[in-house]
Amino acid sequence: MEKLQMCDLHKQYLNIKDQINRAIQSVIDDTSFINGRYVQEFADNLAKYMGVKHVITCANGTDALQIALMSLDLKPNDEIICPDFTFISSAEVIGLLKLHPVLVDVDYNSFTSTVKNIEQAITVKTKAIIPVHLFGNSPQMEEILSLARKYNLYIIEDTAQALGSDYIFSDNSTKKLGTLGNIGCTSFFPSKNLGCYGDGGAVFTDDDALAERIKMTANHGCKEKYRHQIIGMNSRLDAIQAAVLNVKLKYLDQYIDARRKAAHYYTENLKTLPQIITPQEYGYVKHSFHQYTIKVKDGLRDNLKEFLALQGIPSMVYYPVPLHRQEAFRTIARTRSDLEVSDMLASQVLSLPMHTELSEKEQDRIIEAIKQFFEQNQAGQN
Ligand SMILES: *Cc1c(COP(=O)(O)O)cnc(C)c1O
Repeated sequence: MEKLQMCDLHKQYLNIKDQINRAIQSVIDDTSFINGRYVQEFADNLAKYMGVKHVITCANGTDALQIALMSLDLKPNDEIICPDFTFISSAEVIGLLKLHPVLVDVDYNSFTSTVKNIEQAITVKTKAIIPVHLFGNSPQMEEILSLARKYNLYIIEDTAQALGSDYIFSDNSTKKLGTLGNIGCTSFFPSKNLGCYGDGGAVFTDDDALAERIKMTANHGCKEKYRHQIIGMNSRLDAIQAAVLNVKLKYLDQYIDARRKAAHYYTENLKTLPQIITPQEYGYVKHSFHQYTIKVKDGLRDNLKEFLALQGIPSMVYYPVPLHRQEAFRTIARTRSDLEVSDMLASQVLSLPMHTELSEKEQDRIIEAIKQFFEQNQAGQN
């Protein structure tokens, strides 16, 4: 049987092949590889899409987070609050800059930081909160924004997995995730909601002064060529990636709709199985389902993963080891509560194939295999 893909980028490419090939060819014809009009055009188009004043493109999502932190007036040993259950980048850059990540536990249903855990972790040393929009979902940002105002903290959103998701405020107004806090960061890693054909990232802000600092930081600390005011980085989105992204940005809403449709089909067909918990959606965010992540009870996660693999069905554990158990953070991370939910998730989560070209026929195969696993397991127990 044909092996399925976690994320089928080839099928997606075939549907937009002519446009992508033309876009790449025009960059080569112009030999305009670094900065220039393709990058500017993409930054402008993305700013319009996001409804944000400034988009500063950079080399990848990890750099975006690092640039965001470097653009703030932080001092060594300042504390930055970050969820314990996330990809390493969110906290890695904090450590890299000699700041302390304060790791907070997440909510079992939303996979994201809770307002209560964040507030408990705040001290006089706290300078910023990094909410992570994990799997395309969001924590309760309206409440987190009020906390930030109350304690005078910066908010840096890690939107690497949720680009294009809308946040819905209690007055029914909406904003794109990544534009709610002081700074938003995203990644254009190929499998992300808006992925390029290599590495790429961007930083968002509505604040003119911060935008200036961010631009300088990403460009060797200078505004004017060869006049370096601060220590910066060399972090650029290259023009070929910008040209690819310019094509794909037009499809982003359609891609998110495809992910949502596939997610709802999984949930419709899996929600009755007592041994798994399907992902929850909340009224305050339009989930973009970067990942479709179920929780498998009774210690059966790894067995299910293996069973699926034997049938040519890939699945992934995002993430198997919470940050507080990572060797790299042993001496620098701080915690102010137990992190039991994060530990529990690490042992139960399983992400199923999810991409923009996933067909119901492919999903039926995955759903049937999951049902078969639990039927066999049930039979084995009786
Ligand atoms: C992918 C990702 C990043 C980093 O993006 P890169 O472009 O790979 O550096 C950061 N945070 C989260 C949550 C991610 O999923």
